[in-house]
Amino acid sequence: MLKKLFIPGPVTVSEDVLEKMGTQMIGHRSKDASVLQRSVSDKMRQLMYTKNEILLSTSSGSGLMEGAIRSCTQKRAAVFSVGAFGDRWFKMAKANGVPADKFSSEMGQPTTPEMVEAALSTGKYDLITITHNETSTGVMNPVAEIAEVIKRYPDVIFCLDTVSSLAGTKIPVDELGVDICIASTQKCLGLPPGLAVCSFSQKALDAARKVENRGLYFDLVELYDYIQKKDYQYPSTPSISHMYALDYQLTKILDEGLDKRFARHLEMAKYVREWAAENFALLPEEKYASNTLTTIKNTKEISIKDLNGKLGEKGYAISNGYGDLKDKTFRIAHMADTTLDEIKELLTIIDEIMKE
Ligand SMILES: *Cc1c(COP(=O)(O)O)cnc(C)c1O
Repeated sequence: MLKKLFIPGPVTVSEDVLEKMGTQMIGHRSKDASVLQRSVSDKMRQLMYTKNEILLSTSSGSGLMEGAIRSCTQKRAAVFSVGAFGDRWFKMAKANGVPADKFSSEMGQPTTPEMVEAALSTGKYDLITITHNETSTGVMNPVAEIAEVIKRYPDVIFCLDTVSSLAGTKIPVDELGVDICIASTQKCLGLPPGLAVCSFSQKALDAARKVENRGLYFDLVELYDYIQKKDYQYPSTPSISHMYALDYQLTKILDEGLDKRFARHLEMAKYVREWAAENFALLPEEKYASNTLTTIKNTKEISIKDLNGKLGEKGYAISNGYGDLKDKTFRIAHMADTTLDEIKELLTIIDEIMKE
């Protein structure tokens, strides 16, 4: 049975967006391809509140995360981790031979401005990575406060993982001074998986030009230079299907209104948090709770597997905890095109199952 997905990616995709994925192909070296790709970039700049260049990558978000840390670290990277995805960024650095140190917070805790200050003040680092929204613990980091600290170190490249938050909450890239802001299509953007996107600042570009051995497929300089030279065409064949669907979905997002879209996500988040507090407990402190997914402590020690099995029979899916938190927590995503009514419907059904 097909299930409505309340898991933190991939999300259920609206029928009209899915249809766009089936658009007939055009040549990726055609004028039409340039027009399409330029249109996606222009709209993406509005969503990210940035004047910086936009790069698209036919990969999931991890591709650009790996590309960013490899392409732009000259000296040493400071990788801040509040869970599984920060840990992965550190692994990517190591796997690529990029010198890096990891600064971890305890499970469910955020990265603090103080931690960032302590690391950057050593002068050892020229690149920093922050997870904006940690999809394992449901922590949304205080990125505005962290950004204030990073701004005091103008030589440091600021990389931000917004894979599970971009298009679900406001991320004013230029105001925050983010050099590389990374997202994937299958979370708050509401598309199938397979395309990643990032903003790329002049500062990041200048730094990357000085780095040797940046690889090729995920070399951000290669992507940047190519689209400048070839009018927004990419070095290798991109997922044109995603670009059609993304262009269409971005128009829908901008038509909904960004403030309204972010307010809808917050309203859903508040509703789930309240339900969680009544029935279980939130994993993170409320002020660090994510606006796009809620990680709930399984205080009643129910079997998440059984719950999801019963939900599945009714056509719904939620997520168990990630990694070490598998049975200790469960996660409900409220992303992309999900509505408050759908969230209410889901929680009512969970209530009914728990009463049985
Ligand atoms: C899903 C996710 C990733 C990985 O993205 P992929 O598109 O699956 O490669 C990275 N960071 C965060 C915070 C995520 O939620």
